[in-house]
Amino acid sequence: MYNSKAFSAASATSPLAATTIARRDPTDTDVCIEILFCGICHSDLHQVRNEWSGVMPTVYPCVPGHEIVGRVTSTGSAVTKFKVGDLAGVGCLVDSDGTCPECKAGFEQFCPNMTLTYNFPDKHTGGVTYGGYSDSIVVDERFVLKVPANLDLAGAAPLLCAGITTYSPMHHWGVTKGKKVGIVGLGGLGHMGVKFAHALGAHTVLFTTSPNKVEDALRLGADEVVLSRDANQMAQHAGSFDFILDAVSADHDINGLLGLLRHDGNLCLVGAPEKPFPVSAFNLIFGRRSLSGSPIGGLAETQEMLDFCGQHNITADVEVIAMQQVNEAYERLVKADVKYRFSIDMASLKSA
Ligand code: NAP
Ligand code: ZN
Repeated sequence: MYNSKAFSAASATSPLAATTIARRDPTDTDVCIEILFCGICHSDLHQVRNEWSGVMPTVYPCVPGHEIVGRVTSTGSAVTKFKVGDLAGVGCLVDSDGTCPECKAGFEQFCPNMTLTYNFPDKHTGGVTYGGYSDSIVVDERFVLKVPANLDLAGAAPLLCAGITTYSPMHHWGVTKGKKVGIVGLGGLGHMGVKFAHALGAHTVLFTTSPNKVEDALRLGADEVVLSRDANQMAQHAGSFDFILDAVSADHDINGLLGLLRHDGNLCLVGAPEKPFPVSAFNLIFGRRSLSGSPIGGLAETQEMLDFCGQHNITADVEVIAMQQVNEAYERLVKADVKYRFSIDMASLKSA
């Protein structure tokens, strides 16, 4: 084991603070990465504050962070994909069994024995996994992604979660030219959803509760913007959407959104609010509509998404912050005040 600098939370009500964590000694198939940037996902905040206690209770101390971009500092003797100095990305997954039908099909995100990047039993250390709010990480090369060299690194980090979480369901449900697609919530996930839906050629409509985000949404690629708390604006789109991606982090009216789907339309939840939704059966029955959900994506699809971003020069719009500003950033996230992803410059951890 070796020591790594990190920021962790000691309890659901503690601020994140500097600490030292033990990382495993690399195995033959491991890649050691110096972390350069780590995005702040709203999931980090949900997890740090134990808002998902019913599903994934938080083990403290918790070191969050699953939007990691860095540089390879050493490789195990059996590593073939990476060499020292290469750019490397790590998302929400750091392990899976590799043998189940899901893994064999490239759906590691559905593996019953997967390991998430933080707050998950760590089979190497016996503790829990620690995420990317840290200066280094050790990951099996199977779970390390290649980051296109033309991308800005601070803006590329959020692709590892916000990017794949929005790309994967749009790909799965056939978002393309000729489809009318809604994206709900202009946060980290939502703004990537707008960029992808636009790049895929769909007629893209952004739903927001924040009137001050309308201009940005149009600049990011939305064809139309709807203020979701304005009943008249919502009514104008009734029964018209093929697909809606809901990326909202807090409680909101899901029945109003279901009513905007055309027949056989699908509302896919990627946002994971703490409180369950009341869903009206009639909103699904009339129009044979579907309500679905989608988690991140598998390794092959994540690489495909990164390559797509490299080709189309797509990155997140980021506010780069120092590690020491993380608690302030969390407070802004709760107020939906981020444009549109915080990306932590890990060089700041050297002075923490
Ligand atoms: P974020 O940057 O905080 O964005 C969330 C957005 O939701 C806000 O910017 C806001 O957009 C909207 N919003 C917030 N409160 C609202 C309310 N009360 N009513 C309506 N809209 C509201 O969060 P994020 O990082 O994109 O994550 C979004 C959600 O996805 C989180 O719950 C996160 O845990 C989840 N997530 C899921 C996966 C997965 O695999 N499925 C992966 C990553 C994250 P406007 O200002 O435009 O209204
Ligand atoms: Zn995330």
